[in-house]
Formats: sequence, C-alpha cells, structure tokens
Amino acid sequence: MIEIKNVSKWYGNFQVLTDCSTTINKGEVVVVCGPSGSGKSTLIKTVNALEPFQKGDIVVDRISLADPKTNLPKLRSRVGMVFQHFELFPHLSVTENLTLAQVKVLGRSLDEAKTRGLKMLERVGLTAHKDKFPGQLSGGQQQRVAIARALAMDPIVMLFDEPTSALDPEMVGEVLDVMVQLANEGMTMMCVTHEMGFARKVSHRVIFMDAGRVIEDCKRDEFFGNPDARSPRAKDFLAKIL
Ligand code: ATP
Ligand code: MG
Repeated sequence: MIEIKNVSKWYGNFQVLTDCSTTINKGEVVVVCGPSGSGKSTLIKTVNALEPFQKGDIVVDRISLADPKTNLPKLRSRVGMVFQHFELFPHLSVTENLTLAQVKVLGRSLDEAKTRGLKMLERVGLTAHKDKFPGQLSGGQQQRVAIARALAMDPIVMLFDEPTSALDPEMVGEVLDVMVQLANEGMTMMCVTHEMGFARKVSHRVIFMDAGRVIEDCKRDEFFGNPDARSPRAKDFLAKIL
C-alpha cells in the first residue's frame, strides 16, 4: 500500500530525514513515535507529498511520488490527512466543510457529496451538528469533523499527525474512539501519536524515529513487550512511558 524507500530529505543544509524505509500494508495500523524533532511530522508529510524529498522514493498504491509524471494533487486526494490543528474552514458550516473537496476535487455533485459527507458525520457521531460552524464546536468535535471530512474522500489510507495533542484531556477519548473504530474496520493508517494506549491497543506495528532515522520498525508486541531488545534510545523512550 505504502512503500517508503530510502527517503532522505534536507531543509537547506540540515538533513531532517536520513535513509528512512518502511512498508505499510493494506489494513495495517502503524504508529510512528519518537522524541520531539526526530522527523515524524516531516516523514508523514512526505507520504502525501506535502513535503518534497530529495532522495529515495515513496510508492502509494503503486504510484511513485518521485516520478515527475505523477499527478500529485490527484494522489493527495486519495490520502486522508488529519493534523494536530483541525484546519476546518472557519467560514463554512460543517456540511460545507464536508462537501467542498468532494465537489471541487472529486467532481461529485453537491447532492452526492452531501449524502456521503453526512454519512461520515454520522459515523463520528455528529449528525446533530451539521449546520454549525467550526467555532461553535468543541476541539474534540472539530477534530471528529476533520476525520469525517477526510473519510468522505474515500481515502485509500489515513495519515494522522498527533490528532489529539492539541485537545483538552477530556476530549482525547472521543477522538481516539473514532480512530479505534476506523482501525477495527480495517482502514490502513499511519499515525504519529504519543497515545501509547492507542498504540498498544490497535496498532500492528510501531516505528520509532530518532534524529531523522527509523531506528525501530517492529511488531507491536515486540516493541512494547521486549524493551530490552530495543535500541538504547527506544529503550529510554519506553522506560518513560511503560
Ligand atoms: P514533534 O514531536 O515536536 O512534532 P517531529 O518528530 O514531528 O517533532 P519534525 O516536525 O518532523 O519533528 O521536525 C524535524 C526537524 O526538522 C526538527 O529539527 C525541525 O526543527 C526541523 N524542521 C521542521 N520543519 C522545518 C522547516 N520548514 N525548515 C527547517 N527545519 C525544519
Ligand atoms: Mg511533529
């Protein structure tokens, strides 16, 4: 589904990613963790081509991002992305937020987009809020709308970059519940998160990054269950959270 092959990236002279590789299979939930500044956000943003890379390749559903002939906007429309900050359009209602890209990018009719959008809104439990504006919703609700908006595009994979870290603690659970439900339904997911409860409960694999490198890429039970077999940095990290 996603193959990240020896990706390196520089910001000017600063090498932010060094020879990163991993594969995410269909239906797999992969959690990316690691210290602040280790390159997690940068890596996940390269997957939907929001950040270019200078070396290596990323292949999403058999389409190569390094190939100059690839239609990046089209590819991006198939990769759902949810960030820390919800990035809903503040001047549009929830329903309009849900339908805009479906109409503009996928060319769906407004009726079709509304039907699909409202179905996804129901899935995240927010049907009653369809006519509100983002500013009238709590942070957790806004983030669930952002997830519904991404799902309405029928993504082949969902990327999450710390979707709960800007939320008040009491709202973290409702967003994680939606993510758990998605994972249980078989959605392919790559999630940067500090929520190790989520990682332990639903992830299949854990990637641990440090200083721009993937230094652990292993099955969940191996990562959490056998800290002594981990690299020193991952062991340190685990010692703090376990
Ligand atoms: P956090 O856990 O704090 O979100 P992260 O693992 O997501 O961290 P990144 O945001 O990917 O880390 O950043 C990796 C490194 O790249 C950091 O040292 C950061 O300062 C640097 N960096 C990020 N964006 C840019 C940019 N646009 N220009 C230059 N350097 C950048
Ligand atoms: Mg980050």
